[in-house]
Amino acid sequence: MTLNRTLRQLQNARDRRDPEMYDYIPETSEPPAGVRYMTLAEAQSLECNMCGQCCGSEEADLLGYPLKQYTFGPIPKHQWRSLNGGQPLIIPLTPSGRGRDWRPADAESAVHPAFRCEALTHVEDGTTRCALWQSRRPPPCDAFPTKAKHYPHDLKRGAYILMNTQYQRLCTWVDVLICPEDSVILEWRKSNGTLRGRLSKEQRAFVARVFREAYGDAFPTNGALPLKEWRKVRKAEDALR
Ligand code: SF4
Ligand code: SF4
Repeated sequence: MTLNRTLRQLQNARDRRDPEMYDYIPETSEPPAGVRYMTLAEAQSLECNMCGQCCGSEEADLLGYPLKQYTFGPIPKHQWRSLNGGQPLIIPLTPSGRGRDWRPADAESAVHPAFRCEALTHVEDGTTRCALWQSRRPPPCDAFPTKAKHYPHDLKRGAYILMNTQYQRLCTWVDVLICPEDSVILEWRKSNGTLRGRLSKEQRAFVARVFREAYGDAFPTNGALPLKEWRKVRKAEDALR
C-alpha cells in the first residue's frame, strides 16, 4: 500500500479544485472520491509533512470559505504559559486575525475562538516547525490527528471514524476514514487507499451508509451515532463478505 501523500501531492489537489469534503451533503452525496480508507495502525504509520495547518486557524484557512473555522478547542486561562517561558502559548484571535487577551468564554463557550500558537515557525521550503516538538506540548497537540484516546475503544466497538482533518487540506491525514481491522471496505480499495472504480450497487450503498454515519459522528447535528447503532451497520456488513 502507498497510503502516504506528499505535501506536493496535497498542494496540487488543493489548487486543482475545491476541497471535496466541503461539497459533501450527507442526505444526497456519495462519499467524496478522494477519501482513503485505512486501519488505525495504517493511519498511525503515515508521516506528518509539517504543513502546520493544525497549528493555527490562519494556517488552515481556505480560499473561498468562511475564515478561521478551525479552532484549538477550549483555551484555558493558563494558555499553556508554563510551556512558553511564562508567556501565553495559545493566543485567541480577533475576527480580523489579531491576537487578543484571553477571556473566560475562550474556555467555557461551546464556540471556540480562532487561534495562533507561539511555538510555530515557518521555514523557507514552505513547511513549519514546532519549537516544542521534542518536549511537552498541550494535550490536543499530542492527540491530533491519530492519537485521540477514544479511537481504539470506538473501533473495537464497531465504529468507523472520519478523521478530524476537515480544515487541514494539506494534512497527510486529510479525508481519511478509519475502518475496523475486519472491515470489508478494506478489501475494496486500491493501493492508495481510495475505493476501486468497479464496486457493486450494494457495495457502494454500504460505503455510502458508513460514510454518512461517520460524517454524522464527526460533525454531529443531533448527537453522535450511538455505538449500538454501529453494531447494526456491522451486521449489515456481514452480508457483503
Ligand atoms: S505547540 Fe507545536 S504542535 Fe501544538 S499548536 Fe503549537 S506549534 Fe502546533
Ligand atoms: S496538519 Fe497534519 S501533516 Fe500538517 S502539521 Fe498537522 S499533523 Fe502534520
